[in-house]
Amino acid sequence: MSTIRQEYLRHDKKFPHVWCPGCGNGIVLGAMLRAIHRLELAKDEIVLVSGIGCSGRMPVYVDFNTLHTTHGRALTFATGIKLARPALTVLAVMGDGDATAIGGNHFIHAARRNLNFTAIIINNQIYGMTGGQYSPTTPYGARAATAKHGHIEHAFSIAELAVTAGASFVARGTVYHAAQLDTLIEKAISRTGFSVVEIMSNCHVQFGRRNKMADPVTMLKWFRDRAVRTQDAVDLHPDSLSDKFTIGVLADVEKPSYIAEYEKIRIRAKKKK
Ligand code: SF4
Repeated sequence: MSTIRQEYLRHDKKFPHVWCPGCGNGIVLGAMLRAIHRLELAKDEIVLVSGIGCSGRMPVYVDFNTLHTTHGRALTFATGIKLARPALTVLAVMGDGDATAIGGNHFIHAARRNLNFTAIIINNQIYGMTGGQYSPTTPYGARAATAKHGHIEHAFSIAELAVTAGASFVARGTVYHAAQLDTLIEKAISRTGFSVVEIMSNCHVQFGRRNKMADPVTMLKWFRDRAVRTQDAVDLHPDSLSDKFTIGVLADVEKPSYIAEYEKIRIRAKKKK
């Protein structure tokens, strides 16, 4: 990891980082860098885009082409980059609030169009940076700064939403299952089309503290106890999965990507002139 750290981080300029000690964001960053390293992508061929939130700091730390954009709009900027420079490998890193609340419309339509880049969504089930307000993934009954007596809304399931909206590759992992995370991100980047990796990650400071899991280890154990591998879930009765979530690959389908189709249209239109 030290070689990877030296190679891919802006280690001499941008550290110490701002994340709370033990935050899952560091594990996600490590998994992403190991996946990129294994794919042997040149740093100048990569663009990492983020929105706002704790995950929004990630582009600050990595030595790729980077863009820190506005809340909920990482996919919009990623779309523009990919249309202008289709050969680049584009990744958009977002939090659950960023991707599915403020950016929810962009998310489902990016999946429907099958835009050709990778969305990494760090799901810590809360708005961490702004003080612990509930997000679309805060579980029913959980406590948040804006749900002091228990949350009364029902949570989005991000990966399943991406499958339904038409993303061609969808996976879910957790920061507890860190080795699997490297592989899921590697596969997502390798695929053509819209790839989504939802990562269950600990915000023990804003979510855990209010829900009897104030330290990272307790939260990691919570992920360990609730994650069921997709291949094991098929044999289980749906009732036994009610307080659990699946991890692994949820969708992997080939279909025309927007970028390839757009290029065909561009060539067709040029010929008609
Ligand atoms: S507020 Fe939560 S998500 Fe943000 S850095 Fe701290 S632990 Fe991580």
